Amino acid sequence: MKNLLEGTVKGIYDELIAKTPGACNCATCETDVLAYVLNKTKPRYSGGTDTGMALLALDLQKDQTRAQLAVVVLDAIQRIASNPRHPPR
Ligand SMILES: [Zn+2]
Repeated sequence: MKNLLEGTVKGIYDELIAKTPGACNCATCETDVLAYVLNKTKPRYSGGTDTGMALLALDLQKDQTRAQLAVVVLDAIQRIASNPRHPPR
């Protein structure tokens, strides 16, 4: 379940970071963005059980779910971009 959610979030991140001017796409910022998104989204899924896994797989295929995740990812990109862990370039 972990990899499933992470893979989807990473895919959305890759799409959005390319469309966000000024956002840093270094490995540090990417890690921070993905960690932020996963912290916010994981509690939605019970996880660990086969049922939770099946529900997650179904849920992640929905456009609505992906749109909701995209909002969180974009928010995270903007937060990290305005407060990166490294000096601005
Ligand atoms: Zn960076």
